[in-house]
Amino acid sequence: QAKAAGRNTSRLFDPKTQAAVTLRADLEAALRTALEEEQFVLYLQPQISEDVRVTGAEALIRWQHPTRGLVMPGEFIAVAEDCGMIVPIGNWVLNTACKQLALWASQPAFAHMTIAVNVSAKQFHQHDFVEQVLDALSRHGAHASGLKIEITESMLIANVDDVIVRMEELQHHGVGFAMDDFGTGYSSLTYLKRLPLDVLKIDQSFVRDVLVDSNDAAIANMIVALANSMGLSVIAEGVETVEQMQHLARHGCHAYQGYLFSKPVPVERFEASLADFLKPLQQAATLTHLKQL
Ligand code: C2E
Ligand code: MG
Ligand code: MG
Ligand code: MG
Repeated sequence: QAKAAGRNTSRLFDPKTQAAVTLRADLEAALRTALEEEQFVLYLQPQISEDVRVTGAEALIRWQHPTRGLVMPGEFIAVAEDCGMIVPIGNWVLNTACKQLALWASQPAFAHMTIAVNVSAKQFHQHDFVEQVLDALSRHGAHASGLKIEITESMLIANVDDVIVRMEELQHHGVGFAMDDFGTGYSSLTYLKRLPLDVLKIDQSFVRDVLVDSNDAAIANMIVALANSMGLSVIAEGVETVEQMQHLARHGCHAYQGYLFSKPVPVERFEASLADFLKPLQQAATLTHLKQL
């Protein structure tokens, strides 16, 4: 504790601070260029349901930088949120997802699939957010029911009533909502019954040690039970092993996302890999069957 405080204090006098400010300004400018020069790419990570189907994908942004290579969202989303660039970037994500949904609509193997997009609090709280979403859908001719919006508990810190009004308006048009990283934020369970949600996503921090940490297991099981009894779907995030999936399945989880099935991949890879995504689930089903004998 004292060590951490000491580190914080000394940072005020850190000669590197000016360099950090400059770096940040550089990054902001680079994000602007990235949008103009179309350097962002939307990767897709499959979502798998227990009936052995790929039900859809989560869209995860990457920045294909001309010299730095593939830059992950952890390196730029926070700065984009601070400087406001998250709004045009978020709109690019929405439009790209809607364009993909429209392309898939005419392909039998993909027509049923949903795409989930992450939306930042700052983007959601824009006065014209609902309009932006509906514009993106109609511009590309995508069905609203294919679009899922992932919100986080941080969005609920201010103006919960306003958040609910917007969600209800979009829901009325057919857009669905998932609560991302559920259990890691500060929101009250009271909101859960007021928000028009379709899905709770169990945060990967609970899934990671679900087999070895009884507290994580208790929380994951509680979220599954809560979702099931409230009539919501539940998706476990960050599933990396068959054993984690089987544990969650035994406790009533019905859908999964994680490296076990696939890392996020470019859309062409996604389209070419549907059968591969399902292999771990088929394997797990076989294992379960054998155990029952
Ligand atoms: P998230 O929405 O919770 O996304 C899940 C993250 O977990 C992704 O990281 C994904 O690649 C990673 N992941 C999935 N399965 C596994 C697994 O089995 N093991 C491990 N270790 N990790 C797994 P990614 O793509 O780096 O994104 C990080 C975060 O950045 C996202 O967390 C989301 O909060 C944010 N983000 C990504 N794309 C967007 C976007 O388009 N807009 C906004 N506002 N935020 C985004
Ligand atoms: Mg997400
Ligand atoms: Mg998450
Ligand atoms: Mg996260």
